[in-house]
Amino acid sequence: MGQMIGDNLSRVQGDIRGALDDAGRPLNACRLIAVSKGQPVERVEAALRAGHRIFGENRVQEAEAKWPTLRQAYKDVELHLIGPLQTNKISLAVKLFDVIQTLDRPKLARKLVLERDRQGALPRLYVQVNTGAEEQKAGVESDALGPFLELCRETLRLDVDGLMCIPPIDQPAGLHFAFLKKLAGEHGVDGLSMGMSRDYALAATLGASLVRVGTAIFGTRAAPQASG
Ligand SMILES: *Cc1c(COP(=O)(O)O)cnc(C)c1O
Repeated sequence: MGQMIGDNLSRVQGDIRGALDDAGRPLNACRLIAVSKGQPVERVEAALRAGHRIFGENRVQEAEAKWPTLRQAYKDVELHLIGPLQTNKISLAVKLFDVIQTLDRPKLARKLVLERDRQGALPRLYVQVNTGAEEQKAGVESDALGPFLELCRETLRLDVDGLMCIPPIDQPAGLHFAFLKKLAGEHGVDGLSMGMSRDYALAATLGASLVRVGTAIFGTRAAPQASG
């Protein structure tokens, strides 16, 4: 399994470099987040031993159970929260994560400011955009993005490093990646977190600075738990 995960990482990194090269982008323009949610810790350790250091988790409690121990052995890990953040878990999330990619509502932004005052610093922040306007999906609606960014930046003095999206499962992802890039340009945001196992190369071609890849690296994962 360890060898396989190392090979998968090499293959995915190679695909990303190929896509960047095709698009005329610098070869360091897009970084790979290994999405370790739902994976047994041995698989995560295999990726760490292979030299990988950027990981994504979608549940605060799962990250809390897994990462503090792993971080003692691998101090240069960069951990991204890529799942919804409930306000009662903000304090813990601020402690655990280097980047929160799912800022998507004023209440959360305001609580982050309180947490900045308490803990002295915050993770880097990405705003999640609901590019497909899906009812069940988290994220700021695209036409509310301008006012939301203004609230974060002007009123609350929160830096926003990028935008993140999860395209609707039944639509061509490229349309959503291009749309997210357009929104980022309009709003002066640099980072773009987009692309998963089935479309990370396309995302790298279309401007992603971060791709989030789980199953293509680690294999199939356990079904999600009910809460966390
Ligand atoms: C699970 C997840 C991923 C990774 O999905 P794969 O299809 O396993 O690559 C990426 N982004 C988010 C937000 C996720 O929840």
